[in-house]
Amino acid sequence: MQESFDLSDYALQVRKVSKALMSSGCSSAEVSGRMHLLAVATERDLTRFGDSAERSLVACGPGCGACCVLNVTVLFPEAITITWFLKRRFSAEQLDSLRARLQDLLTRTRWLDDEERLFVRVPCAFLDAQGSCIIHSVRPLLCRSITSIDPAACHDAVAMAPLDGAPCVEMNLFHKQFIDTVYTELAGALEELGLDHRPRRLSAAVLSLLAEPGMVETFLSGGAVPIN
Ligand code: SF4
Repeated sequence: MQESFDLSDYALQVRKVSKALMSSGCSSAEVSGRMHLLAVATERDLTRFGDSAERSLVACGPGCGACCVLNVTVLFPEAITITWFLKRRFSAEQLDSLRARLQDLLTRTRWLDDEERLFVRVPCAFLDAQGSCIIHSVRPLLCRSITSIDPAACHDAVAMAPLDGAPCVEMNLFHKQFIDTVYTELAGALEELGLDHRPRRLSAAVLSLLAEPGMVETFLSGGAVPIN
């Protein structure tokens, strides 16, 4: 049977846990380890408190990537985690290629708002040729929040976005509210700790960290992190 659940109470818990996790890290590896703990706890609690029948309707999976043409913002610990993952998993040549894709994406989309980005349909630099996310295990919270029960509806919605009457995409709203709450409370915890809590464009944050690893120390010491 599904356990009773109060999202407001859960938000308070997430704030407390996030503050504890983010209060004492001193390296990319430590921040990444703590973000991993937060992600694991989030997935566990989604399974525990969400409706299993509704969850079984979610059709998202490898090879789709229809929604990976939207603007994505991250909090700085997420960007640190993704960059740390990339440096461990990819060769210098692969990182050079990825850097070029990220720079191209940033150049083409930097000034686009969410609606304009949907119109141009430039895919995320982390989407591979098979339509899978190459950073899936460390993907941003906001990427995790979007679901769909019908991949065809996602493709139609993106294709018809410039037109009136684009179809709606049915998603698991509990899932979205749940993950969005984790994102909001993580940002709140960073603010309470005096750490940079501003949302950043995913491609810009990762590019900056690849170029300037010293930004991690700036962030952890409470400095404002400049992002290109
Ligand atoms: S990070 Fe991954 S899940 Fe998010 S938009 Fe990019 S390819 Fe898609």
